[in-house]
Amino acid sequence: MARSLRNGDFDLVLAIQSPSSPERWYRVLLDRSRTLTGETLLSCDCVGWLQDARNAAARRALAAGHSDTGLRVPRGCKHTDVATTLLGTASGGAMPRYRTDHPYVGATRTRWAPLRDFVPEDGWGIQEARITVSAEPYHLVLLQATGTTGITATAAIAFAAGHPATLGSRAAPVADWGGYTIAASFCRQAGVPLVGEPPLHFAETLPGRGAPRRAPLQPGTSTREILAIGDQRDLGDGLTPTQRAENTLRLFLGPQHALLEHQGFLDVSSGLYPGRVYRIRRDPHRRYEQRVRVFEQGIYVRDLCIVRAQSVPEADHYLTLFFGLVADEQRILSVVQRGNIFGAHSDGHQRETVPAMWQPRDGQINTAA
Ligand SMILES: [Zn+2]
Repeated sequence: MARSLRNGDFDLVLAIQSPSSPERWYRVLLDRSRTLTGETLLSCDCVGWLQDARNAAARRALAAGHSDTGLRVPRGCKHTDVATTLLGTASGGAMPRYRTDHPYVGATRTRWAPLRDFVPEDGWGIQEARITVSAEPYHLVLLQATGTTGITATAAIAFAAGHPATLGSRAAPVADWGGYTIAASFCRQAGVPLVGEPPLHFAETLPGRGAPRRAPLQPGTSTREILAIGDQRDLGDGLTPTQRAENTLRLFLGPQHALLEHQGFLDVSSGLYPGRVYRIRRDPHRRYEQRVRVFEQGIYVRDLCIVRAQSVPEADHYLTLFFGLVADEQRILSVVQRGNIFGAHSDGHQRETVPAMWQPRDGQINTAA
């Protein structure tokens, strides 16, 4: 059962810190593919969930032959219990708003370039609470963002209160887990679910590190290693902002990042114009932004020139464009209209050999010819 979760359709509901190791985080995931059938299937990284400890007694009784209980308690752990409570409460309700100079908000905007454009400065909410998880005190942070289109997403990050922490030291994990949760939720709400498991651990995306799957989270891999706070460029992690941006892109695209590497572009189907596909290309040398090629009903018709803001790493620009065309296509197009629309092959004669297939979004009616 645990293994099959890998290819599910997931939301990260809660990231919760281990009380014994501050660098260890458990992810509680909601399998969306099961919610359609009315089931709530939550999974966790912890040993209790993986070994299905709650059902161990029932299993032993069954094996010993003096039990007829085919009846099983649903698989769960103390962390999925917290997540169930969170899902049951109105975490979608409005929260006190915070400006972008709050460390949590600032760090999240730094880490996740697409959220800088998509969430207005007054679109961030934070709520913090003391909670108890199996007698262990926790500091719960709820980070909420409301996008330019009015949609809202909330992330939950729980810090074990036994570890020394400050507002500043909590900012990096809030930014990592919270930003991922929010950006992924916005894509889902726009009808483009990112299929695949949320990152096992943020540091696993560092080049040259083996990525353990479903193994216990590796201690000693700090989220700070890949996070730039504010304008601080040297974080002592040996990474440049460009490398960090690449990590964020790889993290967010998941399996699609390999596809991008392989074919040099990703397609985004329009949510506004059935039949239209945006082909977002990437400079193999990662120096210059390339024009977006637009296909209508499978035919390559024009280019859109969307210029990168100064000093933004190319990978951040790519992610912002990808995310923008998914989550707020209207705004991206309005920017382009002020800028440049060109004929096909305006920035190169590279031929298109891969068909651009328009896919309706979740909930979108297929009216393409
Ligand atoms: Zn657990």
